[in-house]
Amino acid sequence: METIQNFINGRISESHSQRFAPVFNPATGEQTRQVVLSSAQETAEAIAAADQAFAAWAKTSPLKRARIMFKFKALLEANTDRLARIISNEHGKVYSDAVGELTRGLEVVEFACGIPHLQKGEHSANVGTGVDSHSLMQPLGVCAGITPFNFPAMVPMWMFPIALATGNTFVLKPSEKDPSLGMALAELLQEAGLPDGVFNVVNGDKEAVDVLLTDARVQAVSFVGSTPIAEYIYSTASAHGKRCQALGGAKNHCILMPDADLDMAANAIMGAAFGAAGERCMALSVAVAVGDETADKLVAKLRGHIDAMRVGPGIVDGPENDMGPVISEQHKAKICDYIASGVEQGASLLVDGRDLSVAGYEQGYFVGPTLFDNVSPEMTIYQEEIFGPVLAVVRVPDYQTALELINRHEYGNGTAIFTRDGETARQFSEDVWAGMVGLNVPIPVPMAFHSFGGWKRSVFGPLNVHGNDGVRFYTRMKTVTSRWPASVRLEQHASAFTMPTMD
Ligand code: NAD
Repeated sequence: METIQNFINGRISESHSQRFAPVFNPATGEQTRQVVLSSAQETAEAIAAADQAFAAWAKTSPLKRARIMFKFKALLEANTDRLARIISNEHGKVYSDAVGELTRGLEVVEFACGIPHLQKGEHSANVGTGVDSHSLMQPLGVCAGITPFNFPAMVPMWMFPIALATGNTFVLKPSEKDPSLGMALAELLQEAGLPDGVFNVVNGDKEAVDVLLTDARVQAVSFVGSTPIAEYIYSTASAHGKRCQALGGAKNHCILMPDADLDMAANAIMGAAFGAAGERCMALSVAVAVGDETADKLVAKLRGHIDAMRVGPGIVDGPENDMGPVISEQHKAKICDYIASGVEQGASLLVDGRDLSVAGYEQGYFVGPTLFDNVSPEMTIYQEEIFGPVLAVVRVPDYQTALELINRHEYGNGTAIFTRDGETARQFSEDVWAGMVGLNVPIPVPMAFHSFGGWKRSVFGPLNVHGNDGVRFYTRMKTVTSRWPASVRLEQHASAFTMPTMD
């Protein structure tokens, strides 16, 4: 059986930890590979390689770094089919969705190609008579990225293209559930001309992560995953003096106003709730319908769409499926437990995905699209992130109640409203407590040149990923104030003991 190793200092590095995790194809339920769970010492070796490579890489001109990013972008495009197949086989998502995640990652690479412009800093002439100020946006050093299973390509690419382009070196710790992509990206970066040691991959679990959080050579930690782990990462990394951005879980609501285009909204909600089997941090898992009439119409439309959905493996010869399996047997069991709790706590289960069997893939981890109506805020299926293809419809009498529901929820990642009324939409975007807002847009994931991040317990740390925040996160600002006397010989300078002010 193939063993996925580490990528340290420009080569595949064999782990001697003797600890492994199985990697499955979720559509068949078969173990296809195993991945090493690196020791603390092996993680420290990766950090040492990145630390060693930093001085030369930081001095490499931004233009040269950008040119490597341009080559990396071209290689990503040339390898899209191969990479998408790896994603689909290890994660389970359908092929076109895997291509979609690669595209969203590629867009961050494109953004990073503009780094000579983005890292220019600021300049003010004559802040005082004959005095100028300019800022330097300098790289931090070794940066670490710890990433979740649900976007094995896109989430690492939210981080390392900007970290590398700004002159940092990087250690990636991918999810142990679908680790192959991290290694494939490392090889493509090398092919693009990235010097050895600038990008390293350490596969592993908590043992490796804890080294990344505590080793004094690591300057910054980017994390994406579940909220309890995000909180642990943020508090531990911060306690060790590191910069940290830690993105956590979500429970994204949309509001359906009575004036919404319900056909459009129902179509949009289907893709946002059930795409990638609901395993997206921006999945819409709660539809809040304003008024019973709106709810009845929405539910009828959703049921029709769900009946027509094709669920099966992510890669097929014929017409593509709409939805693949979930990541693991344990995760499938957890989702089914949530569905059972919804029934026990009194929600109306309109479509039950628990007993789905896909012909020829009976051992796969499939859960069919599941629809609950009459869900209320006390229920576990409302409060917790299920991370599966389960959509809850909540009925409320008016817009204000819907808004308060969203604002009271523990999470505040993304949200959306469906309405034809511009004033309601505008008010919603101002008043809602969430980081990313869609106005008739179900999954408002910002483009690479904006920043991605939630509010409340969906994020820990002040700077979001990519866009300007990403550039700020991976650079340290230094402001230089300079005066060049007309002639040192001609001027007499007295010492000044008061706080300097400019005139
Ligand atoms: P996870 O938190 O289980 O794992 C994420 C990473 O943390 C993995 O690399 C894992 O190896 C590591 N990890 C797990 N337990 C650890 C521990 N005890 N100590 C140290 N490291 C540990 O998350 P997941 O199941 O891979 O991903 C799903 C979660 O990620 C969902 O909650 C989803 O909402 C969230 N997510 C959030 C965003 C966002 O942008 N906010 C994006 C994608 C996914």
